Amino acid sequence: MPKNPTIEQVPITAKNPFVLRVNLSQNVPDVEARAALASGDMGFLHSFTTGSTVDGPGVRVVAWTSGCLFRCLYCHNPDTWNMKNGLPVTVEKATDELRKYRFGLKTMSGGLTISGGEPLMQHRFVMKLFRAAHAMRIHTALDTNGCLGDRLSDEELEVINLVLLDIKTWDPERHRHLTGTDVGPVLAFARRLAARKRPVWLRYVLVPGLTDDPDDIARIAQFTGELGNVERVDVLPFHQMGRYKWNELGLNYTLQDLAPPSEELVERTCAQFRSAGVNAY
Ligand code: SF4
Repeated sequence: MPKNPTIEQVPITAKNPFVLRVNLSQNVPDVEARAALASGDMGFLHSFTTGSTVDGPGVRVVAWTSGCLFRCLYCHNPDTWNMKNGLPVTVEKATDELRKYRFGLKTMSGGLTISGGEPLMQHRFVMKLFRAAHAMRIHTALDTNGCLGDRLSDEELEVINLVLLDIKTWDPERHRHLTGTDVGPVLAFARRLAARKRPVWLRYVLVPGLTDDPDDIARIAQFTGELGNVERVDVLPFHQMGRYKWNELGLNYTLQDLAPPSEELVERTCAQFRSAGVNAY
């Protein structure tokens, strides 16, 4: 890629989501951006990546959207907070990109995962892309923080094969401290998915000193077990791959020297979920 690429030269694909991408939609007028959000005909994407084995079943193509309402202290992709950091991509272009991988995805029992950022910031675009995936018989998964779940109708929930739901913490005050937002809508979405018997994988980011409180984890584990639709829990150990993004963006990163959780802590956390009757890895 050239040193100072124009928008047209920025590839839609990236090696991984840890590539820093900023200001890719700065020339899209606000009125056009609002129209895109209203119609879903265009979305704002950090990138597509391929070959993921950790974002749903099988081998996945992941579309990383830009835009997020949360401000997680441990976010590893803070360049996705601002929607206009993403590349403007039409549904047609995104569908064409996905089409390239359709046979491989089926062979490897994978599919399309839409992650972020928070995909439901652009729920109309997301649903159009999921419907296009289904037309190609590609499995669909939504990786979401859940806070905008009420943007999806019951009918739209049926189109999504799997929801990867992130629960950050149970305690409302801690949730506000960690993310800047309320936990209520997240838990309400989890309950709604359970009521509609939609398959869910829960994702729990384990951050030493922030999300390792055994009582808090026990409460989430109990909740997860009671829901009845959570097929597995993925305990995701905190890492520092996003630290350079915070520094490059001039953001105040308070976890500069924090080490990842120990194997023992990860295992203790998995054991807490297992004791509530759910598979945890
Ligand atoms: S929800 Fe995800 S993308 Fe948004 S701030 Fe938190 S970790 Fe980052």
